[in-house]
Amino acid sequence: MVGAGGAVSLPTFVSDAPFAVGETVTLGEDAAHHLRVRRLDTGMRVGLLDGTGSRGAGVLTLLAKRHAAVHVDAVELVAPPSPVHLLLPVADKDRMLWLAEKATELELTTWRPVLFRRSKHVTPRGEGPTFHQRVRGRIAAALEQSGGAWAPTMYPEAALGAALAAAPVGVRFLLDGDGVPLRDHLAGVSASVRSVVRDRALTDGPAAPAVTVALGPEGGIEPSEREELVAAGFVPVSLGRRILRFETAGLAALATVRVALGDALGDGSPPIAP
Ligand code: SAM
Repeated sequence: MVGAGGAVSLPTFVSDAPFAVGETVTLGEDAAHHLRVRRLDTGMRVGLLDGTGSRGAGVLTLLAKRHAAVHVDAVELVAPPSPVHLLLPVADKDRMLWLAEKATELELTTWRPVLFRRSKHVTPRGEGPTFHQRVRGRIAAALEQSGGAWAPTMYPEAALGAALAAAPVGVRFLLDGDGVPLRDHLAGVSASVRSVVRDRALTDGPAAPAVTVALGPEGGIEPSEREELVAAGFVPVSLGRRILRFETAGLAALATVRVALGDALGDGSPPIAP
């Protein structure tokens, strides 16, 4: 596989546990299966990710039916991308999984599903612990495919009030076809956010202000929920005249915010010394 920078990248796997140079990491049954499918064998090099900023590499020392082992010989720590959070709707299962995969590729910071009133009209909808595990698997696969060092932190679905209480302080947008164009707002916030992000990367300074994007389910957001979001500081912003599927809207907003924040997609944050 060829990486974003043109370099040949290693087949890469997510480790559930943190790792360091000199340690042996155990990978689970899924990874062992993929290693065999890809005809990798002991003695070959593989890449490792932990989803919390560590990117490593090492030699495959064991390949069994249910697990594999990698001796780690290199680790770099990657600075986190500027924080962008999603309050996404509990909605159609497959569409949520699609959004989890694509949002991971675009380095989403947190995945927080909200049980809106109209979420309950959708079947089959993505909720509950089993679905949560499916999302986790999709995120891990997206990380392995994209080589990103940071996976979104996942939260279980919550009612709107609880999700709002947990949402980070910072810039808040509500995706709403009747809002003002998103781009009009981004111009104002991007410069300040970008400078804080740069300072932090260079000096370990203050964390960048968070951007949180909320969006509704297939049937939309009820007026009282919209009022609750607006009262919590969410600015209604539009992505254009067309009615987008929720997953299209979420992904388009994430990509737009990332670009506005100066996070050129795939340019990679500067490594920080281990
Ligand atoms: N009939 C629903 C309504 O009137 O809201 C359509 C809901 S749409 C399928 C799902 C969500 O995607 C919306 O609640 C909104 O958050 C977001 N969305 C869809 N199109 C949008 C647009 N053009 N601009 C901003 N947000 C949009």
